[in-house]
Amino acid sequence: MNYFDEYDVFSTLVITAHPFYNIHMETLAKLAATSQNMFLEPDAEHECQPQIGGVLAETRIPIAEVVKSGGGRMKVLKTMLTTACERDCHYCPFRAGRHTRRATFKPDELAGIFTQVHRAGAVEGLFLSSGIIKGGVTTQDKLLDTAEILRKKRGFRGYLHLKVMPGLEKDQLLRAMQLASRVSINLEAPNAGRLAALAPKKRFDAELLAPLVWAHQIRRTLDPRQTWNGRWASTVTQFVVGAVGETDLELVSVSERLYKQLGLARAYYSAFHPIADTPFEDLPAEDEARKVRLYQTSFLLRDYGFSMEELPFEPDGSLPRHTDPKTAWARQHLAAAPIELNRASREELLRVPGIGLKGADRILHARRQRRLHDLSQLSKLGIRAARAADFVLLDGRRPARQPALF
Ligand code: SF4
Repeated sequence: MNYFDEYDVFSTLVITAHPFYNIHMETLAKLAATSQNMFLEPDAEHECQPQIGGVLAETRIPIAEVVKSGGGRMKVLKTMLTTACERDCHYCPFRAGRHTRRATFKPDELAGIFTQVHRAGAVEGLFLSSGIIKGGVTTQDKLLDTAEILRKKRGFRGYLHLKVMPGLEKDQLLRAMQLASRVSINLEAPNAGRLAALAPKKRFDAELLAPLVWAHQIRRTLDPRQTWNGRWASTVTQFVVGAVGETDLELVSVSERLYKQLGLARAYYSAFHPIADTPFEDLPAEDEARKVRLYQTSFLLRDYGFSMEELPFEPDGSLPRHTDPKTAWARQHLAAAPIELNRASREELLRVPGIGLKGADRILHARRQRRLHDLSQLSKLGIRAARAADFVLLDGRRPARQPALF
């Protein structure tokens, strides 16, 4: 299975028949504790608090549902090796000194409970993160031990997403990329100045950017046959959005450089939510709509051939909230010069609002069979025809819109 390009969403899963009678109650409670608040580790655009209920209905364990680009979904347990941490990131519920329940697993203990939950059919994959205790190197070793046990002793061949600890060594990153399907190296902020305001003990260049560079070097120079499945783990990062005044332009610029220069698979944007008993507890939550615009813009850069100069940033560095960036671009460039869908290249098709990656391929295929001359043909191809209508020609004519029924 190819995990390189998957994208993830959460959805609410409620497992009503508890399949884990043989897991000790205390262990399950600990797993519930280390799996809460995982919305701070977004490999998802939407967050929720799903649960495992039934016999142990009081034990709530969030399960993420991952949607892969090739279609299909899988359930993923997102958890931490420890919720204790010696760092003090201002936005984080696990920061040192905050009053909260802490729980810690040993690597073989976590590998064991995950194997049981996996074999019971409740989840197919694991996202494993951790608070930092005794430095990034020591903590990373424990994450690697867990991954080794899963892959080598327990024979787990499914999806494994490993978090990379700030301050790890290059050899540790290599091992993580040999064992995992995906690794996250979270920048948190678009530059060193913003990071200092968010997470004063994290060092932007040495601890976060350097591993992203190493990951790219590893993929480019080393033989992937040394990995568990013959493919290097993909790399993703995440940003906390809206806590320290960073602009959309800052976030999108650094995302674009990571996509183009370091082969990043995906940037995630996590809208800031204040957590009680943290230095940011009185800050307002960030508008989720901002996150949506950031994702849309980021995909235009990664997949649709757009450049930074073409994106509709306001003078203050923000993206328009009232319209999506592709439509804003099309209004300026295509409204007066619509694209003929029977002749357009794939690159041109991808510029049209309502036409996505699959839609462009379907148009190319369909027009080899017959000419396209009305919007209903587009709708049958899965194109959002009403969105495309103002920016295209069909057989040399602007398409007639279907009158709205209501
Ligand atoms: S390093 Fe920072 S973000 Fe990570 S768990 Fe510790 S306090 Fe939270």
